[in-house]
Amino acid sequence: MWFYEPTEEEAVQLTEPEPQDEHFMREALKQAKRATRYGEVPIGCVIVCDGQIVGRGYNRRNTNHTTLAHAELTAIDRASRKLGDWRLEGCTLYVTLEPCQMCSGAIVQSRIDRVVVGTMNPKAGCAGSILNILQMPAFNHQTALTIGVLRKECTDILQDFFRDLRIRNKEEKKMRAAEEEKRIHVGE
Ligand SMILES: [Zn+2]
Repeated sequence: MWFYEPTEEEAVQLTEPEPQDEHFMREALKQAKRATRYGEVPIGCVIVCDGQIVGRGYNRRNTNHTTLAHAELTAIDRASRKLGDWRLEGCTLYVTLEPCQMCSGAIVQSRIDRVVVGTMNPKAGCAGSILNILQMPAFNHQTALTIGVLRKECTDILQDFFRDLRIRNKEEKKMRAAEEEKRIHVGE
């Protein structure tokens, strides 16, 4: 068999949301909104240690011209600099969209204790959708995982972004067609 099939013990183990989760997910949403200003897909992340935000990040993949500019990697980088340690033990990572394989890998590598996800990403997510990299028993570290905190807000911000993008693309196409028409009429 070639496709990945999780064994029973690899299945997603969820923990209940905690009282502070909505507050910090709103902070992650604020980061996601910053991405929108740059025309980036709105994904935001914060890392919390002892009740304090120690790292923030938002998607800047197009702006920075690198796939490494995912929200989670930026937040991990900031948190590690701030705490002076690559180990982020005791930290919780809040992210508006389920992390990809790269970010889930970095989360495990940085030994983050707990991950809180807003909404799932069935096409690319690796916190249970395609793989559950966060909780594979074969690795030396697994995270606790809570899914669905402010799910509606985290879904809406993405859907609104893609809807606006579709409208903008349509308008641009129309404008280009109108310009083309003008050129033809004046005989250029
Ligand atoms: Zn990622």
